Amino acid sequence: MLTIEKKTLVVLFLLFSLVLPCFADPYKVMRVVDGDTLDIDYQGKRERIRLLNVDTPESVHPDKTRNTLLGKQASDYTRKRLAGKSVSLEFEGKKRGKYGRLLAYVILDRKNFNLELVQNGWSPYYTKYGQSQTLHGNFIDAQAHAKAQQLNIWADPPPRSIAAKPSATAPEQMTATRRFHGNTQSHKFHGPGCRYFHCSTCTRIFSSRNAAKDAGFFPCQVCLPGR
Ligand SMILES: [Zn+2]
Repeated sequence: MLTIEKKTLVVLFLLFSLVLPCFADPYKVMRVVDGDTLDIDYQGKRERIRLLNVDTPESVHPDKTRNTLLGKQASDYTRKRLAGKSVSLEFEGKKRGKYGRLLAYVILDRKNFNLELVQNGWSPYYTKYGQSQTLHGNFIDAQAHAKAQQLNIWADPPPRSIAAKPSATAPEQMTATRRFHGNTQSHKFHGPGCRYFHCSTCTRIFSSRNAAKDAGFFPCQVCLPGR
């Protein structure tokens, strides 16, 4: 009896010491910066990771005109999936990019999260700094899927105002009343003919000049909306 117990203990010990660490994801996600950038606890040190082969729309760019609703949504997606989780990293080629950030595939629950972003239309397959050495075909397939389904960045027309304020209003009705676009950064509002009408932060929709003013927006001096 004693020998069996000893054997059992040895087997258990081997399981815990050898097998389990293989499944444990070693790096804790400390912060999701945006759709394709994270801070993780990397061997006891806080490190910034730029995800390989993806490029999600901007959401925290210092030049605010480059930040888009899609960028914010992509950020939210990555945050929801990765914040506080433990992940693995896979490297390919150069381990660090020009800003000293780690360039990596993030593995969540043994699946490649970079690929997931492309699969869900939050990023194109990004090859500016080279194709994926191991997953080129997978990225191509993932992007084809997202394009075919018109997901997120591939949506036609691109989600602007409708996605900004989810509502039960029918799209036709939205279009009919979409007269002025308010810029959420500058708090100016524009009429349909204005070159700023479709600006990336012009996501507030007003049905009338008064509605815009009541919400604290000012008429654009270029298009003088509603005059
Ligand atoms: Zn204007």
